[in-house]
Amino acid sequence: MGDGGPRLVLLGKQGAGKGTQADRLASHYRVARVSTGDMFRAAVKAETAYGLRARNYIDAGELVPDDVVFGLVDERLAEEHTSRGFVLDGFPRTVLQAEALDAMLTPQVVDLVVELTVPTDVVLARLAGRRVCVECGTNYGPDRRCALDGVCDVCGGKVVPRDDDTEAAIGRRLELYSRQTEPLVAYYLAQDRLAVVDGLGTVDTVTARLLRAIGGRLDRRS
Ligand code: AMP
Repeated sequence: MGDGGPRLVLLGKQGAGKGTQADRLASHYRVARVSTGDMFRAAVKAETAYGLRARNYIDAGELVPDDVVFGLVDERLAEEHTSRGFVLDGFPRTVLQAEALDAMLTPQVVDLVVELTVPTDVVLARLAGRRVCVECGTNYGPDRRCALDGVCDVCGGKVVPRDDDTEAAIGRRLELYSRQTEPLVAYYLAQDRLAVVDGLGTVDTVTARLLRAIGGRLDRRS
């Protein structure tokens, strides 16, 4: 595992709770959370060159082209000093991206990939109710409501549905998940780097399950 914290990847369908759990794992292990979705939303908001290229893909629920993704991730991982550990959320999403990640990290490796499993009917219900803060990206859903309707508890920003949480874009993202991202489960399983965790239950219950699964696996390795 190296001197710092663990290098973790979270996999799971949209609405499985990856963002929320990645935040909690990053605080627990005192490592950075690196979310490509958040990075893209920030780039779109700031109207950077990457953001302008990514916007239409994101709104349609399509994957952003790899040259844009790799450009952003490479910069960010270089900043984060990967030897200190990280939690990746939303990357890799394809086998090609997983291979690129391995190359970016060499001589380090991903310590563990955790797949958070939630049935599709449950994620659809969660996504229908999901709202996010336009300023700081905090997620609000069934487990977390704003104290003041439509106003973020964290920063006071406006809380609205995500632009890509339309029925069509959600359908497309789930289709891409099963076609492009699910093959990663076999990819990491073959390398003995996969743990599968049930994502149903309260946020606290799932965090406890994750910590148990990750702790058990990392202990075995060290
Ligand atoms: P997320 O917040 O992870 O659901 O990501 C939101 C959107 O950002 C996705 O639907 C994609 O359009 C784009 N995106 C995020 N991560 C990636 C990635 N690793 N590869 C390609 N597109 C991505």
